[in-house]
Amino acid sequence: MQDFGLSIWSDNNFVIEDDTVNINHASKPSLLKITQEIREKGYKGPLLLRFPHLIQKQISSLFESFEKAKQEFQYQGSFQAVFPLKVNQFPNFIDALMAVSENYSYGLEAGSKAELIIAISKTPIGAPITVNGFKDKEMISLCFIAAKMGHNITVTIEGLGELETIIEVNREFNAAVENPVIPKIGVRIRLHSSGIGIWAKSGGYSSKFGLTSTELLEAYEMLKNHDLLSQLWMIHFHIGSQMGDIAPLKKALREAGNIYAELKKRGADALGAINIGGGLAVEYSQHEGNQERNYSLQEFANDVVYLMQEISKSKGVAEPDIFTESGRYIAASHSVLVAPVLELFSQEYTAKGLRLKEKNPPLIEELYALFNTISREHAREYLHDALDHMESLLTLFDLGYIDLEDRSNTEILVNLIIKKAIALLQNEDSNELKKLQDRIQEKYLVNFSAFQSLPDFWGLKQHFPVMPLDKLQTKPTNPASIWDITCDSDGEIGFNRDLPLYLHDIDVSKEEYFLAFFLTGAYQEVLGMKHNLFTHPTECVIAFDEAGDYHIEKLIEAQNLMDVLDDLDYDTKSIDTTLKLRISESPYLSADEKREVLGKLYLFLSENSYLKTIQANDETRKKYENSN
Ligand SMILES: *Cc1c(COP(=O)(O)O)cnc(C)c1O
Repeated sequence: MQDFGLSIWSDNNFVIEDDTVNINHASKPSLLKITQEIREKGYKGPLLLRFPHLIQKQISSLFESFEKAKQEFQYQGSFQAVFPLKVNQFPNFIDALMAVSENYSYGLEAGSKAELIIAISKTPIGAPITVNGFKDKEMISLCFIAAKMGHNITVTIEGLGELETIIEVNREFNAAVENPVIPKIGVRIRLHSSGIGIWAKSGGYSSKFGLTSTELLEAYEMLKNHDLLSQLWMIHFHIGSQMGDIAPLKKALREAGNIYAELKKRGADALGAINIGGGLAVEYSQHEGNQERNYSLQEFANDVVYLMQEISKSKGVAEPDIFTESGRYIAASHSVLVAPVLELFSQEYTAKGLRLKEKNPPLIEELYALFNTISREHAREYLHDALDHMESLLTLFDLGYIDLEDRSNTEILVNLIIKKAIALLQNEDSNELKKLQDRIQEKYLVNFSAFQSLPDFWGLKQHFPVMPLDKLQTKPTNPASIWDITCDSDGEIGFNRDLPLYLHDIDVSKEEYFLAFFLTGAYQEVLGMKHNLFTHPTECVIAFDEAGDYHIEKLIEAQNLMDVLDDLDYDTKSIDTTLKLRISESPYLSADEKREVLGKLYLFLSENSYLKTIQANDETRKKYENSN
């Protein structure tokens, strides 16, 4: 897996050139070069790089695929799309999104009041806004205000109570005015069909959202009785995120299409749109044979258009406009998290670390001989002997017969023997060897927080492609697991025998080594949590000019220590006062030292929580090497 599955997950967004991974766009700069340029400015922790050209690519491919499908089937309805804000609300993303989608009349979807404010202020007048999720009177009033500003806004009714509130708010806003303006109304339907996979809960009868057929009929009557039927124009459903298989979507489309046609035939004349929600999947897999998606975007678009046409024809109603609310598909590829490796954790298992004595316990002498004489021919036999000896030696230690130095020699020798054996037998694909890789896996300590930057890995074991930024001409040989810098053992991406990750054997005291996590642009940022008080990483936008050169823009540094505490509602003024007082009253410091310590403290307070380097590394290593 020299290319780390790049051909599976990267969608040609990245290429390997020479020995680095490069952006497959314009001047094709390497991620390493960009990373180094930012680090030279003093930002040493993890970096979140955003690429607006990749947002643009997703948006144009979405619109173009549906345009193509419409032409192929001569479909009468229009295609429209909104971005669901819950997928990524960060300003550097949203501003880039709105800029690159200018030509598409692309809008935003809001699921809460705060999101609604973003939608109302960032969507161009005329482009669609949809409002889903549970709503109170205030939120519905905000929708009326948006409509009165001139926005093309659709409020989705999730339950009959909401419809009652809409009727009430309409009375308050419009009863006494000359020019009544009312938002468009959509209804979310509760489908029989549901999605599949870990995000499938949004559809199906037990779903949190949507009206049953009985409620739908009742809503129809209520709208009619309050002269609001002319506002009912959209049917909405969403069967879940990351739909790996297209079959459930097709089922849902048939169900929703028939509901649309039935309501229209009943007299809902204004009804003219079907909103199929999100769910378009992203290929996160890094391993051949483990793909997460079984359809292409064009297949998806063709299926939607074809099914809507078929149902409309057979029921004799007009072909509806088609709306999508794909979020993951639009946002995932736009960002890359780059994080420096701080340390490798099994480097202590080197021959240098051995502390062999004049006279060693016989089993250790034997291990040493196995280590020195292991060959291809006897590799398997020696390996079994070594594992056997280790069991015995560990028992001897428990019983008090050998000392700590003996135990350390045992661990080192057995690990070295396993490594040698695996190298000698590497062409044999045996289960036993795979199992042994677990034991010699190298633990890469990486300067990031999985809780903050890959929460879906922590919560749902969702995999994100990961690879080093350089050395890509060299075959990586270390079975690797990744540790983040939180003090929590859940912050570990373990070595997986079936979907293995191999990284390079490097000495981080001598050279830098960076890992990049890809497809992190959807959901991860706002779901990320400040466990251990590691905050959103330093981020920036990588933009390309006409000449094809890149520019690092809109850099936002990770929050400093005091801002983090302020966010938790600590009284930071009083913390500041206490810290100053502790220094000024310290019996250990002279007046000059007090000034100096205070200066240092303030410098540190202005920095973020992520590590700069692990300095001890270099020094302990030197000490260690001298003593040998
Ligand atoms: C979450 C959500 C989406 C986005 O789903 P993706 O899988 O990210 O495309 C769209 N519509 C609704 C109503 C949602 O709740």
